[in-house]
Amino acid sequence: MSGAKFLKDKTKSLFKGDGPRSLVSTSLQSASNNLRVCWEIDEWIRWRQLASEIKRYVLSNLDILLAQFIERLESKGVKVICAKDADEANNAILEIINQHNAKLAVKGKSMVSEEIDLNHFLERRGITSYETDLGEFIVQLSGTRPSHIVTPALHLSAVEIGKLFEEKLNEKNSAGHEELTQIARRQLRSKFIESEIGFSGVNFGIAESGTLCICENEGNIGLSTSSPKVHIAMMGIEKLLPRLDDLPLFLNMLARMGTGQKLTTYTHFVNAPAKGTELYVVLVDNGRTRALADVEFREILKCMRCGLCMNNCPVFRQAGGWAYGWIYPGPLGIVLTSELLGIETAYDLPFACSLCGACGSICPVKIDLNHLILKQRRRAIEKNTRAKKFTDTIMWKIFSIGARNKYIFKTMMLFVRIGIRLAPFLPFKFGKLKAWTDKRDLPKPKKFP
Ligand code: SF4
Repeated sequence: MSGAKFLKDKTKSLFKGDGPRSLVSTSLQSASNNLRVCWEIDEWIRWRQLASEIKRYVLSNLDILLAQFIERLESKGVKVICAKDADEANNAILEIINQHNAKLAVKGKSMVSEEIDLNHFLERRGITSYETDLGEFIVQLSGTRPSHIVTPALHLSAVEIGKLFEEKLNEKNSAGHEELTQIARRQLRSKFIESEIGFSGVNFGIAESGTLCICENEGNIGLSTSSPKVHIAMMGIEKLLPRLDDLPLFLNMLARMGTGQKLTTYTHFVNAPAKGTELYVVLVDNGRTRALADVEFREILKCMRCGLCMNNCPVFRQAGGWAYGWIYPGPLGIVLTSELLGIETAYDLPFACSLCGACGSICPVKIDLNHLILKQRRRAIEKNTRAKKFTDTIMWKIFSIGARNKYIFKTMMLFVRIGIRLAPFLPFKFGKLKAWTDKRDLPKPKKFP
């Protein structure tokens, strides 16, 4: 599929629907499309097993592979920076920008940069970093956060994006997919030329050769990394593969699981800085070493950020990405956020799960997500984070009394049904509830048997 055709198709799915109501159908459609492409492969089960074993090997030998990766990169003139946390990463990047007296940057989509909140950090210091991925561009313009790790503007409809472009860019209001794409393209073109710094993420770092592999579909990363004189690539320390030979398997799996393609439209291999340019690689830890030492949960670091677990998650499809509080939503977000930020910070997340197992059954690197979430639930209770919530304790006490007596239970359910029927007429459309009730209708309850 050509880049232009992919962009057109992606734009259609991005602009489809009507706000959060479209989230359910879009992510469902996306999940079934991804799975269809996977099951076309006879060897799929063996591929999953192999990918899981390679990533497990990487985690068991991360120190050796990282040393090899850094050594190879430096031997080719790449400047490598190891950052312990978000502050260190941001300050190191700021120092590079200051060394080049730069004020403008363009950025390809990178979850690590979201993790360290790079754009806002730079903005506070008078440096503008333009998002160039279409979805990220829309999200940046709206002043919000991505709601999905692969399709960041999944929560917005074409009408909403048209209004946004009119308000922020002074463009003619349109809900036409092609017009909206053209506006974004026109707005971004000059930024690639004017910017002194280009940021990117890294999908896979190859330890044996010191190669950065970056996958994309829109061509914006190619421009972001080749047009400016300085390229700064950011990656989590776990994003390594031992050998180049491992790459075809992961490229296949990432594209199929992420976007339902056989391969992403563009796959960039960056080996060394081009003549007259500089290349920096910022390796970000930010809690990963701690997660690695946590034997019970370390397998979450096998994740390749394909996003399939969230597309397949019934809770994510109803609640949307922002409900998870940080940048990683869905089942991946529940486990990773609790590991990177600590269960004390993310104490609610393990409970935002129905434990249906839809995520763990499809993860391409065989992360046992639903069991990890269950274990985190136990950890949250053991650490007493949950018990601190007085309202929860009272609610569960009432439920436990009701659940032990069928007459009380039936009476409770009667009140719940009456409450649900009355809810749409009650003045709930204020405060925090407004964000939910503005866009969602309560379903009619089924008749109680
Ligand atoms: S946890 Fe698995 S399914 Fe979810 S994003 Fe990571 S690799 Fe994909």
